[in-house]
Amino acid sequence: MTLDTDVIVIGGGPCGLMLANELGRRGVRTILLDQDAATATNPQANATQARTMEHYRRLGFADEVRAQGLPGDYPTDIAYFTRYTTHELARFELPSSKAATELVKGLGGSWSAAELPHRVSQMFVERVLLRHAAALPTVSIRHLMRATDSTDHGDHVSVVAEPTQGGPATTLTARYLVAAEGARSRTRQALGIRLEGPGIERNFMGGRMHALFFRSREFYDLIPHPKAWMYWAFNPQRRSFLAAVDGDGEFNFHCQLWPGDPEDPTEAQVRQMLFQAMGREFELEVVGRASWMAGLALLAERFGQGRQFLAGDAVHLFTPTGGLGYNTAIEDAVNLGWKLAALVNGWGGPGLAASYEIERRPASARNLSFSRAFADSVGLFAPDPRIEDDTAEGAAARAHAGAYLNRHSRAEFNIPGITFGMRYDGSPLLSPDGTLPPADEANRYEPTACPGGRAPHLWLADGSSLYDHFGFDFTLLRLNTATGTPPATDIPLTLLDLPGEEARTLYGADYALIRPDQIVAWRGDAPPSASVLERAVGK
Ligand SMILES: Cc1cc2nc3c(=O)[nH]c(=O)nc-3n(C[C@H](O)[C@H](O)[C@H](O)COP(=O)(O)OP(=O)(O)OC[C@H]3O[C@@H](n4cnc5c(N)ncnc54)[C@H](O)[C@@H]3O)c2cc1C
Repeated sequence: MTLDTDVIVIGGGPCGLMLANELGRRGVRTILLDQDAATATNPQANATQARTMEHYRRLGFADEVRAQGLPGDYPTDIAYFTRYTTHELARFELPSSKAATELVKGLGGSWSAAELPHRVSQMFVERVLLRHAAALPTVSIRHLMRATDSTDHGDHVSVVAEPTQGGPATTLTARYLVAAEGARSRTRQALGIRLEGPGIERNFMGGRMHALFFRSREFYDLIPHPKAWMYWAFNPQRRSFLAAVDGDGEFNFHCQLWPGDPEDPTEAQVRQMLFQAMGREFELEVVGRASWMAGLALLAERFGQGRQFLAGDAVHLFTPTGGLGYNTAIEDAVNLGWKLAALVNGWGGPGLAASYEIERRPASARNLSFSRAFADSVGLFAPDPRIEDDTAEGAAARAHAGAYLNRHSRAEFNIPGITFGMRYDGSPLLSPDGTLPPADEANRYEPTACPGGRAPHLWLADGSSLYDHFGFDFTLLRLNTATGTPPATDIPLTLLDLPGEEARTLYGADYALIRPDQIVAWRGDAPPSASVLERAVGK
């Protein structure tokens, strides 16, 4: 039977677009369907974590992403106020994007990385992901097409797609289907797979939220404090946060609705909520509004069935504290991308398909628990009713809140352990060496080549990143003076010599096998055996 394509991806959010890039870069024929006319027009996620930036670097467009959003010299501070125009309570100063590019080259330890985080609205990143996916010859992006049904026929899948602006439905066939359809995933529901976990109510970051995307020329001039990237309002009347979108007058404001607030507040009501955070009225133009729910920590029972895979928000729903929803969705796409490509291109074994859920479900559960702890930390800490008083008690309440929020911001926004420390221990694709990984801590990352985690990073003498020399699929690192060769297989494998004691010490072995997603699959003091290589590709 002739199939229309190799992989059908439903959903052109960050997860689906990243997957189309991973597949297309490996020559896999891919059709991506999205019901909308274009990528998101609402800013949505605010933070691209360092690990996600490293993946964008691997695909060759990290610099393009880093140029999006705020101007290069705009500070990315996170600041807390009673109201933006009154008392500043706490501030975590972070570098501008221009400074980050230089800074990373001198960092070691927890921040030994090819890229630092980038504070940028998701809508800008999606445009870059789309531009690159659409330029790949084997990728076809089809907007304004809604998938309404899908069937696993055992040896292929079919998907019914309807043009959202009218016209006849078409049926497309492929070897695999990936539903990256977001929170309301039709495919997940059709497969009878439930999302499990709590929806938690809190003073903040637990309950109904409303987002207001606006423009204002006046905003910066009215605030008697240094510019920040994120502005949090901490007062008993209403809690909220606001992120600068373009650094030139565009902002995205998110406030929590109280139980008595209208189900669907009017624009005038939301403006008043913004003025409460600001501490005064000001001129603004509304660009867009959206409702969303904070307090969720939901994980799907399964990440797919047969030839149908689920990824991104379709299988995990976060409260945005820690900024992990979109970043976890990107890592799903990275994991699934090379595996589906290996299956389509013939060098992957039958174990690869099942390994997706085995690896990504625990990783998602881990990230969910970190984001939930951050939401508890900031959301259960309620403002003292006297915090705005011009009295000694008011000053003491502000000092107390400031000390707490200074601690909290450093815990939530400096997370090398979360971003680099994610591991796939227990995966059948790995060959463990009997060593144990370091403790999994949010704010501390200890580079380790213990199989199952991210390959330790190094800056090379010529100023390039070690990662820039990895192959696009598997890489065998030969450290210091190692010269052995692996057995011949059909696995695309780049041999990379890394002389010097420093690299040998960092990796703790003469050889290390690095997967396409830059995870260490194996390390040892002789070249990997055929069975190590076969295990790594699910044979
Ligand atoms: C206020 C807010 C702040 C956030 N902040 C952060 C943050 O700082 N960091 C972070 O990591 N995450 C954050 N997130 C979460 C982040 O936005 C999501 O996790 C992310 O968008 C998930 O990407 P996705 O591709 O899985 O799904 P989505 O972005 O939801 O994309 C799904 C796509 O599928 C399409 N689709 C759905 N059904 C069909 C169908 N049947 N046929 C065709 N197309 C279909 C949709 O139109 C959509 O384009 C935030 C979320 C919110 C609401």
